Amino acid sequence: MQKGEFLYEGKAKRIYATDEPGILWMEFKDDATAGNGAKRGTIGDKGRINAEITRRVYEHLEASGVRTHLVRTESPTVLLVKKLEMFHLEVVVRNIAAGSLVKRIGLEEGREMAQPIVELYLKDDALGDPILNDEHVIALGLASPEELAGLKAAARRVNELLRPYFEERGILLVDFKLEFGKENGAIVLGDEVTPDTCRFWDAKTREKLDKDRFRQDLGGVEEAYQEVLRRVDAPHA
Ligand code: ADP
Ligand code: UDP
Repeated sequence: MQKGEFLYEGKAKRIYATDEPGILWMEFKDDATAGNGAKRGTIGDKGRINAEITRRVYEHLEASGVRTHLVRTESPTVLLVKKLEMFHLEVVVRNIAAGSLVKRIGLEEGREMAQPIVELYLKDDALGDPILNDEHVIALGLASPEELAGLKAAARRVNELLRPYFEERGILLVDFKLEFGKENGAIVLGDEVTPDTCRFWDAKTREKLDKDRFRQDLGGVEEAYQEVLRRVDAPHA
């Protein structure tokens, strides 16, 4: 597969076309940002670690019947993916209170939700990704009512599959963000599932194993990412 025209550089990845129509070259970077770009830095080896975690998680989801954009790994930091028509939405699922939910509603960090919460945010860095309700999504034409129901159902299904997947690896899946797109009208999971986009806590010690270590200057950032990859590679270890 040949890398083609440069298409887009985001905060965590660079996207290129390839010589195969409909297939994108997704290169994972070591760059890290937090607070909507206010804090910038790099996390050593993050590109490789996140590409590999995403591949493993998406292979697991595919094997369980969830459609994802994953085609295959091209190199340690590059995944080939199907080009999707992305929804301009971030779909967040929360199992345990943390992050913006704690700040916004005043909940205690670590409180287990009575049931998982699905939230929708407008994907717009300039506006700081504002939260939306279902009516905003439909009135703004960000998704049709049927698509919105499909997005929420897919996000819940991913949560049902990934909670036990990570639990088997000694990791609590606290919350995470997904991005979906459409391929021939069908809803397909795009983007990534990594310590950049999920909160992972060690199940025994509740130690943070994700980007919160970078956001909150806790140290041991690269080690935490490596630890997640190690456990994804070796369940029950
Ligand atoms: P951001 O744009 O949030 O800074 P990234 O650096 O992760 O994020 O860039 C990846 C970009 O590629 C995002 O805009 C994301 O929505 C988009 N994307 C992810 N998967 C696909 C896909 N399969 N097809 C098209 N675009 C995708
Ligand atoms: N998240 C993300 N990208 C965003 C916003 C959130 O990947 O632009 C992830 C974040 O890592 C966490 C979950 O979504 O796992 C919920 O994030 P939250 O709303 O608490 O926002 P934060 O305070 O982390 O920005």
